[in-house]
Amino acid sequence: MQTGLVIKTTGSHMVVRDGVHALYTCTIRGKIRLDGLDTTHPVAVGDVVDFLPSKEDGKGVIYRLHDRKNYLIRKSNKLSSRGQIIASNLDQVVIVATLAFPRTSRGFVDRILLTAEAYHIPAVLLFNKLDLHDSDLMEDMAYWQKVYGSLGYTVMSVSAHMPDTIQDLKRQLSGKLSLFCGHSGVGKSSLINALSGSLFIKTAALSSQHIKGKHTTTFAEMHSLPDGIDIVDTPGIRDFGIIDFEKEEIGHFFPEIRQRFSGCRFSNCLHVNEPDCAIVEAFEAGEIDPERYYNYRGLLEDHDIFR
Ligand code: GDP
Ligand code: ZN
Repeated sequence: MQTGLVIKTTGSHMVVRDGVHALYTCTIRGKIRLDGLDTTHPVAVGDVVDFLPSKEDGKGVIYRLHDRKNYLIRKSNKLSSRGQIIASNLDQVVIVATLAFPRTSRGFVDRILLTAEAYHIPAVLLFNKLDLHDSDLMEDMAYWQKVYGSLGYTVMSVSAHMPDTIQDLKRQLSGKLSLFCGHSGVGKSSLINALSGSLFIKTAALSSQHIKGKHTTTFAEMHSLPDGIDIVDTPGIRDFGIIDFEKEEIGHFFPEIRQRFSGCRFSNCLHVNEPDCAIVEAFEAGEIDPERYYNYRGLLEDHDIFR
């Protein structure tokens, strides 16, 4: 038996990398322990597994899943309460966003931040396409920096086309396993290419004549780059929903609510229209960013994310 790291999943098969970087395409043997999670696929990118190489070259069978440090999960589809684990054992979630085309919405960012908070994974807000920032977008950037920086998130702006900024990004990613998530077209592949030197993923510009409008990667996949940078790339995630939370819990995943809610009169306060609510008071005093508060209220109405 050998121990390896799952670097790619394609539904029924997992690509496992061993200690000397040899790759094995593996299937799963029988029932492996599932952490009590109801998931569509038991093994995810980032998982450490015990596997037995088979006689056939480059193939193997997974027998055991090691305990996970953490994982991120999303609903496998709207009708199902089952989750799909996107990746595990992450050091950080990097939300790749753009202010220029395509413009990333605050709702999308807040939802992923909520998910990262819920699973105790540090989050970084990475704005790409800095080369396109005019004075208006610079002002927007300063606003994001102020709002999200003050909540404790790392906010960076870079460009895949500006090598100095890629050096800063290298420092943020070095020695860590990072999940890149963001809409298609924000430049995830371009950034990974810029960070890598030799490794090459097709970017939208290069592949669009073949598969217009389609994502160029279909499954989560780990890219191991120089400088100890490991990145899990996910296909443009749209409904990165969290599952299985109670309404009262959502506020705990908003740092500005978590810091203040001991001041609310009721311990199960939802911070909407309860009397003596410290959150509503802070909002009315201009201490909480309005859009963050409205996105919180929107999430309370989103029945997809509750049990
Ligand atoms: P992905 O879908 O997130 O992987 O995005 P791609 O890497 O395929 O990039 C989408 C488009 O944005 C391509 O046309 C890239 O050339 C372009 N792009 C990526 N990064 C930058 C950047 O920093 N500046 C500019 N101006 N364009 C970029
Ligand atoms: Zn309250």
